[in-house]
Amino acid sequence: MKFFKTNKKIKLFFYIFFICSIITIFNNNYLNDHKTNNTNIEKDETVNFQTNEKDEKIKIHFIDVGQGDSIFIELPNNETMLIDAGESSKEEVVSEYINTLGYNKINYVIGTHPHSDHIGGLAHIINSFNIEKIYMPKALSTSKTYENLLNTIYKNNKNIITAKAGIKIIDEDNLKINILAPNNNNYSNLNNYSVIIKINYKSKSFLFMGDAEILSENEILTDVSADIIKIGHHGSDTSSSESFLSKVNPKYAIIMVGENNKYNHPNQTILDRLERNNIITYRTDLNGNIVITSDGNEINVKVSR
Ligand SMILES: [Zn+2]
Repeated sequence: MKFFKTNKKIKLFFYIFFICSIITIFNNNYLNDHKTNNTNIEKDETVNFQTNEKDEKIKIHFIDVGQGDSIFIELPNNETMLIDAGESSKEEVVSEYINTLGYNKINYVIGTHPHSDHIGGLAHIINSFNIEKIYMPKALSTSKTYENLLNTIYKNNKNIITAKAGIKIIDEDNLKINILAPNNNNYSNLNNYSVIIKINYKSKSFLFMGDAEILSENEILTDVSADIIKIGHHGSDTSSSESFLSKVNPKYAIIMVGENNKYNHPNQTILDRLERNNIITYRTDLNGNIVITSDGNEINVKVSR
């Protein structure tokens, strides 16, 4: 009996020891699992961080709108900019392009100058998207397209910020967007009112000329050097003088131009000038949509044809 009792005690002791062991093992495992989970969270954060890094690129879409300009820019700070929107007949092309990229908001809209091949589609854009700021030059035009645009801006309770040289649209450490022109407020040719935009992102820069002609090119006193230039006035010889091109000294040039257009743009003199200066040239009439991506150090060009 006594022996049995002792045996029972031993059994009880082992039983308690067994239970304790199980609890300890369970706790350890739980803690380990918990640690693993933490590690996973850290890993996930690393992945997200890398994704953000990847997103910290500038993406410039030269949208093929035939004879006209429309450039949509996804900025590395997650804001967006639209420079012009082509003729009104191309307004849906532009709005669908931006919609497809997943945006319903445009932070900065630039209407370079009142010609219909630049501002024609802008009224539709202003009606269709949530617009933050609109920049346009103080130029007078009595065209129906221009009046319609001004009415649309007014009806949407938006203001126009007068675009002129010296305005800083964005002034961050790695990202700067400056207006280089117009430098005057009285031109006989509407093209010279064109808002010229320069974007600097880290070590790369991008220059957008609108339809600015040689008169306006010569008025710019600030640094025009850029890796990429959107050639002025669809490659017409009214723009892109030899001296201006050498100051810009770009690696790539983009000409936005319609197939078989009635103006014979681009001009052969300009194409020869670009080639002689070893500037790689892309054209919307030949290449369709042109998309330039840069992390601020390298530049990648993709074309749709
Ligand atoms: Zn034009």
